Amino acid sequence: SIVYLNGAYMEASEAKISPMDRGFLFGDGIYEVIPTHQGKGVGLGLHLKRMENGLRSIGVEFDAEPLKQVIAELLEKNDGDDLNVYIQVSRGTYEKRFHGFPDKVEPTVFAYTWQIGPAHVADKAQAHTLKVVTADDLRWQRCHIKSTSLLGNVLHFQQSYGEGYDETLLFNGDGNLTEGSSSNAYIVKDGVVYTPPLSDELLPGITRKILLTILAEHSDIKVVERAVSKQEVLDADEIWMTSASKEVGPVIQVDGQKVGSGEIGDVWLKAQTLYSKHCYDIDC
Ligand code: PLP
Repeated sequence: SIVYLNGAYMEASEAKISPMDRGFLFGDGIYEVIPTHQGKGVGLGLHLKRMENGLRSIGVEFDAEPLKQVIAELLEKNDGDDLNVYIQVSRGTYEKRFHGFPDKVEPTVFAYTWQIGPAHVADKAQAHTLKVVTADDLRWQRCHIKSTSLLGNVLHFQQSYGEGYDETLLFNGDGNLTEGSSSNAYIVKDGVVYTPPLSDELLPGITRKILLTILAEHSDIKVVERAVSKQEVLDADEIWMTSASKEVGPVIQVDGQKVGSGEIGDVWLKAQTLYSKHCYDIDC
């Protein structure tokens, strides 16, 4: 496939980055994953805005606007109807290993695409259901930053994946839900959706933002952003996990127990139906 690196397009095998890059040595960078279908990005502007915010929060001033052109060119060169676009901006390459921010360093900008499935259909029979396990959230205290230092998330994901499950639901020191290792989390009880409010304990997911906006604008489904306890998760009628790739993912099992009836719920069906219909309309 054709990738983008620091202003140029090339075959993936031609792309070379120095091992002295801060992204490689320190995980010192920010990334985004943007799904596209028929050449249109879902939440493209929101993803780029989050990337700028993340970079600003680590002291890198970066204008993400030109990446729109890069993305358009990558889509054209890779000629796919359904592609994920990955973009990573690291602090840059510096000649010596040094923890502080180097004075003169240009960010390293890398982007590539890979084939994904078509946009999801809101259909109980075709939906990819999720079975999850729970764990104490042992990541750092800046989970709102989409850092390329993903070891905490990787280790939590492996807790479920390594046992044949799909995701790990994480709980903070107070026993409240934060999110998944690579997705945001929601419960549904008596028709009401509950999800933890944004904080430094979780990533401000773009799918979360799009979904909550759509539910507010196009449905009478009530969404409450508040702390959600482990007991509430275990007693929920439905559990969902969202990410750019999962869209609204229905969870049918937690720690070996059925969620609600053990079948995909009706509120999920409404939510994914609305998401599929309106996800391209919500952007900045
Ligand atoms: N939370 C974490 C830790 C993630 O890694 C991700 C996505 O990768 C999400 C939430 C969902 O974010 P988005 O909806 O922007 O994909």
